[in-house]
Amino acid sequence: MSIIMNGKELSAEIRSELKKEVNRLKEYNIIPKLAVIMVGDDKASQIYVRNKSRACDDIGIQYEEYLLPSTIEEKELYSIIDKLNKRKDVNGILLQSPIPKHLNIDKAFQRISPEKDVDGFNPINVGKLSLGQDTFVSCTPYGIIKILEKYNINLEGTNAVIVGRSNIVGKPLAQCFLAKHATVTICHSRTKNIEEITQKADIVVVALGKSKFLKENMVKDGAIVIDVGINRDEQGKISGDADYENLKDKVSYITPVPGGVGPMTITMLMNNVIKATKEQML
Ligand code: NDP
Repeated sequence: MSIIMNGKELSAEIRSELKKEVNRLKEYNIIPKLAVIMVGDDKASQIYVRNKSRACDDIGIQYEEYLLPSTIEEKELYSIIDKLNKRKDVNGILLQSPIPKHLNIDKAFQRISPEKDVDGFNPINVGKLSLGQDTFVSCTPYGIIKILEKYNINLEGTNAVIVGRSNIVGKPLAQCFLAKHATVTICHSRTKNIEEITQKADIVVVALGKSKFLKENMVKDGAIVIDVGINRDEQGKISGDADYENLKDKVSYITPVPGGVGPMTITMLMNNVIKATKEQML
């Protein structure tokens, strides 16, 4: 019998703790504030941004939104970021990706002050994570670590395989797993014979964006499966990167989609906004 790791429930638990933190900060007349910048009108981004705004409302974090036209020039975007960097009442700044191709996302992330970089994408914070220093851990990897901790899963000495090497999931997660003393292998689109690698894993994380990619024959009995993928079919039905129905009786633990990693991501963003506020204000 495998255990279904419930990210939705854990997210609610963490949010109730975060609300208490926000109330404690109110005693010092401090209200955390997140500024979100969105460039263009990407439909998925609109949904993500709306969900972030709702989470802020729920927890008591102030929320400010900048919806910028897709034609905006680099220097105008930087000028907005610079102003937000300087404002004492703004504690966290988030630039929603993707942004239009004529803008350089790496340079834009770099422009956000490391102290307000609640997504953990500024190279300073990426570097700190790789050095094992305290920093803003990007939200999806951080959420995965919290799920594993909740279910008392000790990564020390495990053979961990991550499929996907993006800057927002695969790479930072590998650093988090290394810090927990796992032996980490990262697979990507050029990796040969992936199934031979995943079959040896104690824990497999799939973060590639291909519906039901991880099949039953690709994992060993009792493996742990963390599914980051969010894929929508033509009917709008969501599926993960793991073939959940066929895996769930073979593995020891698995995260469902929806209700696994997804709900944790925004909650860890809220956590990072509160962390930033405390570091700046107390
Ligand atoms: P990216 O597209 O940035 O990265 C995908 C990675 O998967 C790349 O490293 C790519 O390799 C690799 N890949 C693609 N196809 C294959 C393949 N056939 N075999 C092996 N590796 C492959 O995606 P993200 O990291 O942004 O997102 C991954 C998934 O996670 C998506 O479904 C996304 O929606 C979801 N997601 C979910 C979040 C949540 O909160 N639950 C948060 C963020 C993302 P290469 O580098 O060689 O191109």
